[in-house]
Amino acid sequence: MPLTPEQRAEIEDARAETRQTLRATSDGMESHLYRAHEVLDHGLVRVIDYMGDDSAIVQAARVSYGRGTKAVQNDEGLIRYLMRHWHSTPFEMCEIKLHVKLPVFVARQWIRHRTANVNEYSARYSILDREFYIPAPEHLAAQSVQNNQGRGETLEGEEAARVLDWLREDAGRAYDHYEAMLSQDGQQGLARELARMNLPANIYTQWYWKTDLQNLFHFLRLRADPHAQYEIRVYAEAICRIVADWVPAAYRAFEDYRLGGASLSAKALDCVRRMGRGEEVTQETSGMSKGEWREFMAVMEG
Ligand SMILES: Cc1cc2nc3c(=O)[nH]c(=O)nc-3n(C[C@H](O)[C@H](O)[C@H](O)COP(=O)(O)OP(=O)(O)OC[C@H]3O[C@@H](n4cnc5c(N)ncnc54)[C@H](O)[C@@H]3O)c2cc1C
Repeated sequence: MPLTPEQRAEIEDARAETRQTLRATSDGMESHLYRAHEVLDHGLVRVIDYMGDDSAIVQAARVSYGRGTKAVQNDEGLIRYLMRHWHSTPFEMCEIKLHVKLPVFVARQWIRHRTANVNEYSARYSILDREFYIPAPEHLAAQSVQNNQGRGETLEGEEAARVLDWLREDAGRAYDHYEAMLSQDGQQGLARELARMNLPANIYTQWYWKTDLQNLFHFLRLRADPHAQYEIRVYAEAICRIVADWVPAAYRAFEDYRLGGASLSAKALDCVRRMGRGEEVTQETSGMSKGEWREFMAVMEG
């Protein structure tokens, strides 16, 4: 469980305190504020703060003095137009601040998204908790034979049991030694900033992560994709559900044009046109490589 009873009480206290404001608020987002959405075995995502809503996007696009909104239909139409034509800056007018608890190996992928502000829990200053990500048996998979960056069939039987045992034992042993090195009981005690180097990449860390909606969509487009590693994808999917409640019209446009859409090369587009005219097109006549053709067919077949 990612939260202690004390932490749950703090969240409830924060949610019990309300203020009147003149700022734009999103009812959908207010229902998420501070609440923890559990991810993986000890992880979480929760919204700490946000700025803007769907109307803030159209307000910025129209550079309005007032709220800048027209009929809801017009606003949604404008948001779809902006998304369709990559007019991205109005989406940057909305911001979100998240508290995320995640395994270090997931954090290494996440931190590559540079267009965010991050403050991570300091393992120089504090002692990390004994919390490690251990995959559920159904997520313990073999190396994919087709994709060097992916996984294949689920491990089974003795092999699965052995892997799970090693993951638990190695993490436990590393943490025992971490604690033993830090201990000042009858010894000097190694500095926290050094002792942490013994910890495995499945230990949990935490950070506050703030970004704008445009860059968040970019993150979600890459990390909620079915090809993204499962362990980061589940975080992206949790965030998608939050964003759908926060800015419903913008999220619908994102789902349609980005998450559910596909971009085609000039060669691929030419194939679509030829197929539309009834021509039989094969990889050999497409002008595409085998890999490109495979990906193109995956798009065409859905
Ligand atoms: C499926 C997958 C596999 C990956 N595999 C690897 C891998 O094997 N090895 C590896 O190292 N990484 C890998 N990555 C990470 C990937 O290369 C990117 O670093 C990561 O997805 C962040 O993307 P980004 O730079 O677009 O995002 P952000 O850093 O958030 O940047 C958003 C956008 O801002 C602009 N931008 C930001 N900083 C700069 C800059 N300094 N200069 C110019 N433009 C900038 C770019 O337009 C960029 O797209 C992988 C990512 C995915 C999704």
